[in-house]
Formats: sequence, structure tokens, C-alpha cells
Amino acid sequence: MTVRTRIAPSPTGDPHVGTAYIALFNLAFARQHGGQFILRIEDTDQTRSTPESEKAILDSLRWLGLEWDEGPDVGGDHGPYRQSERKGMYKDFAMRLVEEGKAFLCFRTAHELNELREANKAAGRQRALKQEDLELPAEEAERRMAAGEPYVVRMKVPTEGVCEVDDMLRGTMELDWAQVDAQILLKSDGMPTYHLANVVDDHLMKISHVIRGEEWINSAPKHKLLYEYFGWDMPKLCHMPLLRNPDKTKLSKRKNPTSILYYQRMGYMAEALLNYLGRMGWSMPDEREKFSREEMFAAFDIQRVSLGGPVFDQEKLSWLNGLWIREDLTPEQFAARVQQWALNPEYLMQIIPLIQPRVEKFSDIAPLAGFFLSGMMPVTEASFEHKKLSIDDVRRILQFASWYLDEQRHWDRDQLFNGLKGLGEALGFKIRDFLFPLFVAISGTAQTVSVVDAMEILGPDMSRARVRFALDTIGGPSKKQTKSWEKEYRAIELG
Ligand code: GLU
Repeated sequence: MTVRTRIAPSPTGDPHVGTAYIALFNLAFARQHGGQFILRIEDTDQTRSTPESEKAILDSLRWLGLEWDEGPDVGGDHGPYRQSERKGMYKDFAMRLVEEGKAFLCFRTAHELNELREANKAAGRQRALKQEDLELPAEEAERRMAAGEPYVVRMKVPTEGVCEVDDMLRGTMELDWAQVDAQILLKSDGMPTYHLANVVDDHLMKISHVIRGEEWINSAPKHKLLYEYFGWDMPKLCHMPLLRNPDKTKLSKRKNPTSILYYQRMGYMAEALLNYLGRMGWSMPDEREKFSREEMFAAFDIQRVSLGGPVFDQEKLSWLNGLWIREDLTPEQFAARVQQWALNPEYLMQIIPLIQPRVEKFSDIAPLAGFFLSGMMPVTEASFEHKKLSIDDVRRILQFASWYLDEQRHWDRDQLFNGLKGLGEALGFKIRDFLFPLFVAISGTAQTVSVVDAMEILGPDMSRARVRFALDTIGGPSKKQTKSWEKEYRAIELG
């Protein structure tokens, strides 16, 4: 059997370090077995998927040195590698299951589904919605279909008993069928759900091993059943432990930067970040901390993955990065890397139009724009002194702005400006005053280029991290205050 592994990111946001971590282990496994590693874009959620996000994911993975043998940009024999370009094929598979009585058309509205759930609860039935709750008598289904009513296709699932799923790291897992809904396979717009598209594509792309994050364990019974329904062999499953924040919660952008672009902007070496991701739940046989991609692949054994939640700790990463910088770069290489990092034309050309109108000589550049080349700003409480704002006002502004920035999916200067303006007004501040703490948090000073331009260039994770850092520096709100502010924040309606 040829080993074929894959990574199947959904292009709905910034490229996540978790995606790179899973990609690394898939690539290592494929290389170790002389197999292939495939990149597939799962963009069936058309409202959330964007081409910019797809590009950022591909660029970031490539920057890290994670190359794929087949994918949307490099092609291959099992394409297309973007699910949106495969959408014609999923419906037939869903309908095949309907004809065989393994799936059914469901006409229930969201309101009806709610009522059914409530009724289940009231009757003390601790189970998910099943075909017997949802399926209509055949004539009624036909009548509704003929009348053009919208429907989804759902798979039938057992009502009770356990599903045994084999996992390469966990052995046989037993999952309860009672909690599994009759899963939607095809949505009313004819698009497949993740479950159908994922199984169909893994089969058609001849994937032999599915190595993915443990958040997908609960999907495994449905996938196993789908393989049985279709009469296909199931790939071997391997669920990797999730990356965690230092406080052991699931790695989240609210607590820790998660975007690969942030680590790039921070000036980490790709080799060091990849090395660190290789240390997440895995170790070299001799336990050494520093190793290259090739060394990892040569010594790779997936059974050495340990299931304790690996902590992604920026301090540890920085330490490792320091070793790479000191031990692996000649001064010439160091200079070339710095040039590539931030003194490259692409980055400079984002900054120059903002600073050119404000300087008299080139030596004015560094004081004005040095923050574009920095990590956290060296701010203190005194940096936030302002004639109209108390330190409590500053705290409130930074906290509300931080929540706002955490929620933004489209990161562009006009949208940020309008949103922050609305937020400032809702809190009763003049826009100039409201933006002052953000200027200081982002740029270290208010005497510089527009803060929303700066945020757009620095990107979401770096901007959020600086605001959070400033808040920590002056001391964030108390627990009680956070609760009442959060309520206030939720009540604000931004246009
Ligand atoms: N599209 C899924 C994701 O975003 C893929 C999960 C899987 O590997 O099955 O991670």
C-alpha cells in the first residue's frame, strides 16, 4: 500500500499554527514511508471561505518548508484539490445512499427541529435526533419534494449501542451512538457538509492515513459508518493531541497568538518554528530539543507522540529560536534573513507611503516607524498619561477595543476605523481621545502614522497581542469589572 496523507484546511481565517503542526506530522509520516502528502482545500462553507485566506495558508506552509506533492497550486492525478471545484460530485453520492435506504430527505425547519429537541428533553430522552424523529412517510416526502420545498439529506445512524473506532495512538475507542445526530450530508443549497465531502474525497484521493486534530474524534463514528455504507475501506485514523495555551486551555487567539503570520512578523526563523512544532507531543529518540526537519523525518515514529496536551509556549519558542539564530546563521546569512524578514520591498512598500509625507530626512524613519519592526512595545503606565483620560478610562478603552479586535474577521483599515469609531461613541468618548490608548499600545506613541493603517499592516495577531500587552502592563480590569464590562460590550450594537 502506498502511504498517502493529507492536510485539509478550511480557508476561513489566518493560517493557524495548529494547521502547520498537523501538516508537519502528516508530511513526516508520508516521508518516512516513502509516500505522498496532499493538500486539499475544504471550502464548502462558501460564506466563510476566502481566496485571501487560502493564499495565506499556502504561503505560510511553504514558508515553513512544508511542501506537498499534490494540491490546488501544484496539481496531481486526483484533483481538483479544492472542494468548491468538486461540488458536482457529492450530490450523487448522497443520493446513492438515499436510494439504498441509508440516508433520507429531511424537510424539517429549524423551528421544528427545536421543538423536537425540546420534546426529547421533556420526555427525559437523552439522545440526539434520529431518523425516526425526522423522517416523513414516503408519500409526504414525495409530495413536498414535488412542491419544491427545501430539504437536506441526512444519514441514518444507530439509535443505541457503541461504535468502535480504531486510532493509531489511542487503540480502540468506544463512542456512544445515542449522542450522534442523523448527520446532514447535503445541505439545502446542494453543497455537501464537511462529513460527506471529507469521506468522499479521502476515498477518491486514495488517502491511507488520516492524521488530524483530536477535535475530530466525535466525527469518527459518522465517518466510519459512511465508509461502511459506501462499501469503501476506511483510512487508518490518528488523532493528534491539541495544542494548548500555557494555562492548558485549548490554544486560542484570545490568549495566545495563533497565526503563523504573527510568528513570521515577530521574526522567528521558519526552521525554529517548525522545530518547535515538532516538539509538540513528540520527541527525538535522544530527547534533544533542537533538530532540523530532515533529522526529524529520519528519526520519525508516530508512536512516539504522547497524548498529554502539548503546551505552545512563546518563551520556549524564543529560546529555541535564539539557538537557531546563534548556531546556524553566518553573519551574512543573518543579514540576508533580516532583509527577507522586514527590509523586503513588499513590506517596505506598505509602510513608505505612510511615512514619506512625514519625514524630512531618512534618519527620521526609525523613530517614526521603528514599531513596524518590533515585537511588544516597551510601554509603562506613564506612556498613557493624557489630559482628558484617567488611567481607568484607558483601561476601559483598551479592554473594549481588545474584545472588538478579537472578533474581527476582515482586517482592513476602513472597517477597523468605523468599528472603533462606533465603539468610542457608544462609550461616550471623542474619537481622538478614544484612539489615544490604541496609538500608544500599537506604536508606543501618539506622534506617528494613523493607528488603523498601522494595525492593518501589522496584522490581527500582532495588533491584538500589543493591545493585550498594554492592558497587562497597566493592569487589566478586576474579574468583577470584566464581567460587567463584558455585558456592556455585548449590548453595544455596532453598525
Ligand atoms: N476541514 C477540516 C479542518 O478544517 C479538516 C479536518 C480533517 O482533517 O478531517 O481542519
